[in-house]
Amino acid sequence: MSNIKESLIERLEKGVVLVAEGYIFELERRGYLKAGPFVPEVVLEHPEAVKELHYEFLMAGSDVIVACTYYAHRSKLKAIDKEDRLEELNLKSISLAQEVAQKDGALVAGNLSNTWEFNHNDPTESGKIVRSIFEEQVDWASRGNADFIIAETFSHLGEASIALEVIKDAGFPAVITFTTVHEKSCDGYSWEEACRILEKNGADVVGLNCGRGPETLMPIVQRVRDNVKGHVAVLPVPYRTTPKEPCFFDLRLENSKNAFPVALDPFLLTRFEMADFTVKARDMGVNYIGICCGAGPHHVRAMAEALGRKVPASKYSPDINLHPVFGDQDAKKQHYVECLLGPNVPIGLNST
Ligand SMILES: [Zn+2]
Repeated sequence: MSNIKESLIERLEKGVVLVAEGYIFELERRGYLKAGPFVPEVVLEHPEAVKELHYEFLMAGSDVIVACTYYAHRSKLKAIDKEDRLEELNLKSISLAQEVAQKDGALVAGNLSNTWEFNHNDPTESGKIVRSIFEEQVDWASRGNADFIIAETFSHLGEASIALEVIKDAGFPAVITFTTVHEKSCDGYSWEEACRILEKNGADVVGLNCGRGPETLMPIVQRVRDNVKGHVAVLPVPYRTTPKEPCFFDLRLENSKNAFPVALDPFLLTRFEMADFTVKARDMGVNYIGICCGAGPHHVRAMAEALGRKVPASKYSPDINLHPVFGDQDAKKQHYVECLLGPNVPIGLNST
């Protein structure tokens, strides 16, 4: 690690920046956060759990530690009657991210999200509320010395544009991403057009995150790539979305109930599928690649390794050849193989 950290833009100019997100989903899965409101109170109540997850993603190869401030804005905190802890939560989040990032020279990103306050039928008045929410969060990220700011999961170009203005006014590089539930934004723009406008207005990285799995997100990413000049981001959810159920909101269980948000497990993609996605995105010319809600460190490590990287957690990457039943001849205990699998059973490995 050098004393001078390379900036986001310097890293993007050299190659792919890998970004693990999805903290809210993973901390919910670990029992530290309530599904529904999805507000990261965990930062105040169990900071060690947030730090641990940051560390796991860092070891797995994330180049960026994202402060856990998704949905940690005034509107959400007000909804759970914790507005008085808002500043403390934001400052603590950024300092936890800094503490972990310093171990490995990773970048620290401040994090803004959609506010659920923007109304495209009344952009002026609703925009004022959104702007004040973003201004205070960017100020806290700035006080915590963030390297850049991510503003994400927007359904409206209008709201994304306010985030961009606030971030640029504060002098930060801006990564702005939309969530593509439908084919167009709620204020009527195609995703490629919305990204092109943000880029023209000064966004350093534009693209798409959350909502869709790789299969249904990549065709839209291709259109964005074809329509903007600069850096493009893609961070899908690791779920098996399909043309019939393109967004994870659409996924249905066998009993027709919604899988989102807490029964998505049967749709989870393997690490190998996320590794394949990573290579495809890179080959498409996308250089800010990541993973959103549903991400586990095993996905992130496989994505890093697919890019040819050896990361700290590679020390524990699979070696199924050492397994006593599925391993190679030296490791295999033949009498167990016959007992557990039957004689002459061909074994197909998926160990790479
Ligand atoms: Zn997400």
